Amino acid sequence: MKLLFALSCLALSLDAQTVDWPKHQAEILQHYRSLVQIDSTAGNESKVVEYLKRVLEAEGIPVNTFALDPARANLVARLKGSGAKRPLLLLAHTDVVKVQREKWPVDPFGALQKDGYIWGRGTTDDKDCLAAHLMTMLLLKRTGRPLDRDVIFLAESGEETDPEDVGISFMVEKHFAEIDAEFALTEGGSTRLEGGRVTTVQVATTEKAPRRVRLIANGTSGHGSVPRLDNALTHLGAAVQKVGSWQTPMRLNDTTRAYFEKLAAISPPEKAARYNGLMNPEKSPAIERYLAEFEPGHYSMLRTSVVPTMFKAGIGANVIPSEAEATIDIRVLPDEDVAKFYAEMKKLIDDPKVTIAPIVSSRPVAPPSKLDNDMYRAIERAGRLSFAGSTVLPGMLTGYTDMALLRARGIQSYGIGPPATLNDQTNFGPHSDVERILESSLYQFVEFTWNVVTGVAGKQ
Ligand SMILES: [Zn+2]
Repeated sequence: MKLLFALSCLALSLDAQTVDWPKHQAEILQHYRSLVQIDSTAGNESKVVEYLKRVLEAEGIPVNTFALDPARANLVARLKGSGAKRPLLLLAHTDVVKVQREKWPVDPFGALQKDGYIWGRGTTDDKDCLAAHLMTMLLLKRTGRPLDRDVIFLAESGEETDPEDVGISFMVEKHFAEIDAEFALTEGGSTRLEGGRVTTVQVATTEKAPRRVRLIANGTSGHGSVPRLDNALTHLGAAVQKVGSWQTPMRLNDTTRAYFEKLAAISPPEKAARYNGLMNPEKSPAIERYLAEFEPGHYSMLRTSVVPTMFKAGIGANVIPSEAEATIDIRVLPDEDVAKFYAEMKKLIDDPKVTIAPIVSSRPVAPPSKLDNDMYRAIERAGRLSFAGSTVLPGMLTGYTDMALLRARGIQSYGIGPPATLNDQTNFGPHSDVERILESSLYQFVEFTWNVVTGVAGKQ
């Protein structure tokens, strides 16, 4: 009995046992801080690539770099597996968004350790992911762990700003063979820390796509003292009012259905009733009104969203302009028929003076990644292993990521993230002037990443 128990414990914790995590904290911290200390705002990505190249090559892992712009290179490294299964791609971006130094309470590129946190630009976007992937590669190599599939490390440039397409588009279009994989793991998920323990591990399995439009109203120009029925501003204002208050149809997909079901299962009764009642036509109108007011993120996950964001009209207080324009930020569900959606919108506006001009987007729309394959199951197992008692649930991002380009090429892609409290995620998160990560979360995230990678790529 005792022996059996010991054996089953051994089998369960084999993945965890292969790495002595406390022993690796100093190395994780050193690489992570070094990465944060490199100012890699757009145009400086190659500095990160030089660092990664040095570290990987010192470990005996060969690297290749691919650059459309020499200052903005991408780096690829590959650990060979047996070839029994198709590769796993680890994707992280090297660039960070700009800083306004005077707004920061600390040096944004200092990687200062204070109050249990590490502070700086990129600490949660995306140097955390980069460091986790780097450590995973180093440890896979060092432990000589047998792999059923190649593990490919891609450090891409230009995720945040890429007008010249030097990053993921360049790699997908010109060097796809280097990164082609069955699965990809990257940023985009969120792991919730509540009262010192992880409650939910949200995995990004799909996302909405931007399909913005401009509404353009045309009328007769003239003197501001003489009213006209075809005033461009009046017509545009009415159109914006209609589209801005339009409740587009609610529609769930596999990801959002599983998300609300799992969320209901771990929510207090009142909340649970709301998530469970979504598909009940008698209850859903009131639930939708509630979500629109109090949980706008969830409201957006249920539909293609239509949000007016900019107005452009007029040159003088006494001049009626002949044209007025509004920008509408539209984020479509992965299965949206966009042409049909625009036609619906035109019908709703119902004004021949107003035209809809789509803003061309290169972001492809791809079906959600699956929830019943080896990769998703490995993430579920790793979530339970790394964060005892947590619930793993799939999620749809309302924003867009580079996963869209991978999914469009058939790579099932998944986003995960380090443990963070709601306060840290909301007020100290990516792109803020107080970006920071809990030091303990960094270590947990590396371990979580390792558990996913070895779970899906390790020899079975
Ligand atoms: Zn990012």
